[in-house]
Amino acid sequence: LMQLAVPLNFIGSVYREIRQGLTDIEQMFDLLEVEPEVSDRADARPLDVTEGRIRFEDVHFNYDPTRGILKGISFEVPPGGTVAIVGPSGAGKSTISRLIFRFYDVGSGRVTIDGQDVRDITQESLRQVVGMVPQDTVLFNDTVGYNIAYGRPSASRAEVEQAAELAQVADFIRMLPDGFDTMVGERGLKLSGGEKQRVAIARTILKAPPILILDEATSALDTATEQEIQASLDYVSKGRTTLVIAHRLSTVINADEIIVLKEGSIAERGTHGELMQSDGLYAGMWRRQLEANKAESQLRKAREAD
Ligand code: ADP
Ligand code: MG
Repeated sequence: LMQLAVPLNFIGSVYREIRQGLTDIEQMFDLLEVEPEVSDRADARPLDVTEGRIRFEDVHFNYDPTRGILKGISFEVPPGGTVAIVGPSGAGKSTISRLIFRFYDVGSGRVTIDGQDVRDITQESLRQVVGMVPQDTVLFNDTVGYNIAYGRPSASRAEVEQAAELAQVADFIRMLPDGFDTMVGERGLKLSGGEKQRVAIARTILKAPPILILDEATSALDTATEQEIQASLDYVSKGRTTLVIAHRLSTVINADEIIVLKEGSIAERGTHGELMQSDGLYAGMWRRQLEANKAESQLRKAREAD
């Protein structure tokens, strides 16, 4: 019974998933990529967002005791500002986003939003304030319209369509057999990774949260889709406190601070200009990416010439 209490609390006021049965509850945890490990304190209070400042103070974290994942991470995302986290796969980037959402509790140190430790606030209020476009979006077994409206269930159809428009996915949806009423997910139409991600962006645009976490996974997408998604992400992050986990470096140039994470520690930090000047890891990542881009475009030209 204890185990059941946590997921129900986790789901909060979203009754529809419960009605639809266990498959969707499992999907929700897939969507969040984690098991429900934390619960509200008895005296938990709703988060009071005054300006939307995120702080990590000397955060240590591990999933299991044998291996440290984050080893003393401190940074701040100023209100309305953007901080980017880059670094190799497995460095701990997505883990940082999961700690902001409090899918897990830190081992030591603290994560605060506007000075409030995320362990002291209700998870429901935290998740209302933070919008996340995850690396792998899992859609509910429901209509594509429902999947977008999930960001704000009270939204009208016109608002849902406008969000889809801004996420550059509306034209695609209108071409589906039943438009916004087309069933998607495991038991419906399968969407590509890029299409699912744009649905997630539309959901987030509709939710319009003061704090945004974008865990990009655009490396697997073709260049045109990548650019379309970038335009939607730029739109949704305007004026919002944004933490962007970037695989593609072109998205981080304008960040207030870029953090290079390596094996759970901050290896370098600064603006794009500062990091290029210091000619370390970040500058090396740029060189490699430019070479990869060049190789890709040469390959494309060669194919076109055939
Ligand atoms: P990144 O996003 O930088 O690629 P992650 O934060 O996803 O890295 O993962 C950091 C490390 O933690 C990786 O070595 C990964 O294998 C490990 N890890 C991620 N999630 C879990 C989990 N739920 N349980 C145990 N280890 C995990
Ligand atoms: Mg990741």
